[in-house]
Amino acid sequence: MKRKEFLSLAATAAAGSLLTRCSEGSRAPAASSGRTAVSVKLYDLKLKQAWGLSRGTWTTRRNAFVRIEKDGVVGFGEAAPIARYNETAESAAAFIEKARPVIDRDLGEYAVRFGEIEAVGPGEHAAKAALDMAILDWVGKRLNVPVWKLFGLAGARTVTTTYSIGIDEVPVMQQKVRDAADFSVYKVKVGTADDRKIIEGIRAVTDKPLRTDANEGWKTKEEALEMIDWMAGQGVELVEQPLPATRLEDYAWLKDRVKIPVFADESLILPSDLPRIAPYFHGVNVKIMKCGGVQEAVRLAAMARALGLKLMIGCMIESSLGISAGAAIAQLFDCADLDGNLLISNDPFRGVKTVKDRIILNDKPGLGAEGDLF
Ligand code: MG
Repeated sequence: MKRKEFLSLAATAAAGSLLTRCSEGSRAPAASSGRTAVSVKLYDLKLKQAWGLSRGTWTTRRNAFVRIEKDGVVGFGEAAPIARYNETAESAAAFIEKARPVIDRDLGEYAVRFGEIEAVGPGEHAAKAALDMAILDWVGKRLNVPVWKLFGLAGARTVTTTYSIGIDEVPVMQQKVRDAADFSVYKVKVGTADDRKIIEGIRAVTDKPLRTDANEGWKTKEEALEMIDWMAGQGVELVEQPLPATRLEDYAWLKDRVKIPVFADESLILPSDLPRIAPYFHGVNVKIMKCGGVQEAVRLAAMARALGLKLMIGCMIESSLGISAGAAIAQLFDCADLDGNLLISNDPFRGVKTVKDRIILNDKPGLGAEGDLF
């Protein structure tokens, strides 16, 4: 497909809720020629309830989905673009098109392919994650093994997930907690002027442990320390990203004073960031969409463990496809926040099941997720 044609499709996609094929892939025959058929669709995930963070509120999130097919085997991947890093579903689709020559090569050499995808261009981590996922899904299906098994993990070992409570009016947040009674730990979004009211409101309806995520919302280290100490007294177990990502000197100050662990999320993108930021945090939140895929997340887990950090695996607003990829490696982490699929009403995939707060892996080959999007 010519670049111009692709761009016009991307523009059409931007205008509608469901975007269409960005390459000729899915209509092409299974790649007996050695080529990989590739198709991309943009799809608006609808939030069951408005999703409020310290930096904004959303009712839908547009993700890019990729389908690859070679030798009669199909692989799926998902990009949940991160606006903070200037990613959109459209830019993810454009990157996937740009990476097309890499996907035509031997997919069995998935680690080599990831290095080549990384070299296609900077940023666009969610798009890279989608390709990494699709290739691993393809490899797993080709070999008839689940991705968790490819990484030497145990299918029977279940992981529990926290349930995220987005910022809203306090009575709405209280109702979100009541509606999520199956979960044993809540992750509450904070980073506003009303954080005390929020936590007090939630405490009025549950005595379960809480974790909070300020998404860089607090302005000074003194404010952060005061809030973290207060939250520790309210049964908050850990706080994620209280201050802006680059203020590492403030994090050093905080780390020496806080009573509960402080986790990095926005401060950590790639494995190469980890040695630089590790001294300033107690733990890190690793996301497949942020670091560029399953392989990078596994690498991050090993590095973070070696550096003595606590480990969380997180997610964006994702379908059951992306969550299945996170779940496949979740047992490498101390805790999981893999609930993005539970927050949407029009999940285009079926994958891992969440029973109460336990994520149950399945024995299907690849990522174990299927859907009707393509
Ligand atoms: Mg976070």
